[in-house]
Amino acid sequence: MKDAIRTTATRVGRLGRLALVLALAAPVGASAQGGDFTAQTRDAFRIFDNLYYIGVDLVSAYLVTTSEGLIVIDTLFAASSDTLLDNIRAVGFDPDDVEYIFVSHGHGDHAQGAPLLKEATGARVGMTAEDWDMTGQTRDMVMTDGQTVTLGDTTFTFYVTPGHTPGVLSMAFPVRDGERTHNAFMFGGMGLNFSGVDRTEMYIDSVRRVRQMDGIEVNVTNHEGAGQIFARADRLADRATGDPHPFVDPDGFYAWLDTLEANAQVKLKEERATAN
Ligand SMILES: [Zn+2]
Repeated sequence: MKDAIRTTATRVGRLGRLALVLALAAPVGASAQGGDFTAQTRDAFRIFDNLYYIGVDLVSAYLVTTSEGLIVIDTLFAASSDTLLDNIRAVGFDPDDVEYIFVSHGHGDHAQGAPLLKEATGARVGMTAEDWDMTGQTRDMVMTDGQTVTLGDTTFTFYVTPGHTPGVLSMAFPVRDGERTHNAFMFGGMGLNFSGVDRTEMYIDSVRRVRQMDGIEVNVTNHEGAGQIFARADRLADRATGDPHPFVDPDGFYAWLDTLEANAQVKLKEERATAN
């Protein structure tokens, strides 16, 4: 059975590289920087008591632990599926205990590994209807705005925040640092690699909507650079007892949203100029 999975992984791996070539041909944020979307120069690491980074260098994936099993956020390119599973084991957990996999949006770097990871873990996979359609994958859980999913002691709340793709899925969930619990948020699609006035307005509406949510303290980004995940991890490693947690940065989160909106406003002007 495991061999069968590996064979599938190899086959899809080639498709993954094809998708990567196509992605690199497009003028897109992280993809335009080029680079190896399977490279992982950092070991998987713990961020909060219940949150781990299990992604690669250019694309994030996260593991959330609960009292009743595990949740994975994002699935990387299919070529990285074995890496993601190894990262779960490396931080001390069993992929068989993954109950849910939530995919932030349908682009290959976040969604392509979903079928393989579903097969390997037996987990349910959640994506919005729009982005299920984008991937061409067989639908599993169709995530909707305002939906909550509870696993053991942990509840995720979902928001559909379109723009980057037609069905970007954002999510809020608690992270724990000893006695303290903080509100973490993943804004599911931040890149401006799309076109059209309508889509850009949609993106701006989504950013503004999240901007109006109170109390978000931790920015869990699906590309590490956007949230300085690795830089904060360095500071976390040097944290002394009693120091603040370097990932708890509400001002940074809201300032980041302002930057996203400012960049999108520039794009909106360009899109309108092109449309006229
Ligand atoms: Zn994307």
